[in-house]
Amino acid sequence: MHFSTKDILQPFHTTWLPGNIQAAMLRLDTIHPLVQGNKWFKLKYNLEAAGNTRIVTFGGAYSNHIVATAAACRLYGLTSVGIIRGEKPASPGHTLQKAAELGMELHYVSRELYSQLKSGGEMMQLMQHLLDQAYVIPEGGHNAEGARGCEDILKLADTSAFTHILCAVGTGTTLAGLVNAGTGQHITGISALKGAFSLEQEVENLLKAPSSQWRLLHDFHEGGYAKHSPELISFMNDFYRETGIPTDKVYTGKMALAFRRLAEQSYFPAGSRVLLIHSGGLQGNESLAPGVLCF
Ligand SMILES: *Cc1c(COP(=O)(O)O)cnc(C)c1O
Repeated sequence: MHFSTKDILQPFHTTWLPGNIQAAMLRLDTIHPLVQGNKWFKLKYNLEAAGNTRIVTFGGAYSNHIVATAAACRLYGLTSVGIIRGEKPASPGHTLQKAAELGMELHYVSRELYSQLKSGGEMMQLMQHLLDQAYVIPEGGHNAEGARGCEDILKLADTSAFTHILCAVGTGTTLAGLVNAGTGQHITGISALKGAFSLEQEVENLLKAPSSQWRLLHDFHEGGYAKHSPELISFMNDFYRETGIPTDKVYTGKMALAFRRLAEQSYFPAGSRVLLIHSGGLQGNESLAPGVLCF
């Protein structure tokens, strides 16, 4: 897939950033109009491994992964099937509409069946058989191929001068890939989930070698996964006005707000150069009422 890396590394300054800290955003949200952000990196080796077989994957009604998979399969001429958690909504939201428009076949399953399917047990084996050996991509692209693709994120620009990296975390696949890239920077993951304390183990499961170069912070979820506080929304608006960088309410807005709080608490030593990974996800903002965000 051809994508744009022009101006992908965007230095920024804000009123709250201490003068002795430098910051830049790696704008994965700008690489492609449809397959935005970290999702492309998690998909690329999975799609390569799939060959011509049809793709089956999983996600909730607001999943960025579902839209990205639908878009990437469309670009690659692959058939895609999305197993969606929960009953079919009376009027499908933006995410599911977009996925359907891109040609993804959507199937709604109960939450109980969904969790059995996604855990890959007997039920999945049966389904795989029925689906004629489809290539199954786990929810959120959370597998070794997904992490391998994320190793390539730091190659998009010369990022060697940065001392610290900050990224948003859902499944931990992106974080694992960044650690596996072995660039030596200290990497802090900001969990978008509340109390997901098994995430550390999940990241470790995807690491090629044990590493002490990373940590996960659990205090910046702003109410929980896909929840948002009024403070988050006003921060996202202020951040956009100051930097011109749009963020999403589920992941990157929380990461940028965490960056502010951490910088104010002197988490980063003087002289640090911090690289924030903009992992995309802007389509998720479409579920907000018009005018809530200024971008
Ligand atoms: C999916 C997603 C993440 C989470 O990535 P993981 O690899 O699952 O940790 C982060 N940011 C955005 C915008 C996403 O869409």
